[in-house]
Amino acid sequence: MSHPSFKRVLIKLSGESLSINGFGIQVEAVKEIIHDIKRAQVMGVQLAIVIGAGNILRGSKAQFGDQIERSTADTMGMLATMINALALSDILTSNGIDNEVLSSKGIDGVIQTSCPKLAKSYLNTGKVVIFAGGTGNPFVTTDSTASLRAAEIQADAILKITTVDGVYDKDPKEHDNAKKFDVLSFADVLRKELAVMDLGAFIQARDFNIPICVFNLNNSGALMRVLNNEQEGTWVRN
Ligand code: UDP
Repeated sequence: MSHPSFKRVLIKLSGESLSINGFGIQVEAVKEIIHDIKRAQVMGVQLAIVIGAGNILRGSKAQFGDQIERSTADTMGMLATMINALALSDILTSNGIDNEVLSSKGIDGVIQTSCPKLAKSYLNTGKVVIFAGGTGNPFVTTDSTASLRAAEIQADAILKITTVDGVYDKDPKEHDNAKKFDVLSFADVLRKELAVMDLGAFIQARDFNIPICVFNLNNSGALMRVLNNEQEGTWVRN
């Protein structure tokens, strides 16, 4: 499958990507990502990153029970994305990658409030933009942040980095015979009820005609292969 060349892409990075053991931040965990981001910058592709927070917390009831309201837990999750964004920003800077953090809600003197024009002006100067703070609203995840910010900055694609190699017909961690799809349409995904992103985020990407690529960044050079139109992961497009 080929795709027109990419000028600007949005990477959805789960919080777990920052962690080796699933919890907290370990700088070594992002070695591969940093390497690929550098190479993508050299190619001249503008990169925005939406960072999650699963390595710190998610706003699920399972995690907090009844005594912390879901909206409070979700706000805690959004704050945790800011922690990750600050860490990722410094790691990028330490590796010579110019970047800015923009958040749904700013913190005076620490993080600027996100605005599409500002984000695009940073991207146009070659800086990586890290989007923190989720959408600013509870009851969704950073998948929704990814489709929202991708639409705002008119990204050519959403690159969803996961711990599996793409979209499968059943969970590959549980079924040895799970089959990976190379390409799917948005309609295929809905018809087959496949898990690509949260449904609301998925529909937004479809409505804004933003293709989604799901792939495993731990496959060395994966981002480069995606940006070079080589087969990698699973593409979903209209
Ligand atoms: N979150 C939210 N609104 C948003 C984005 C995130 O309430 O717009 C909260 C939600 O509780 C979510 C948590 O932040 O579980 C962390 O995000 P996510 O689960 O997407 O992290 P990831 O799985 O990508 O590490």
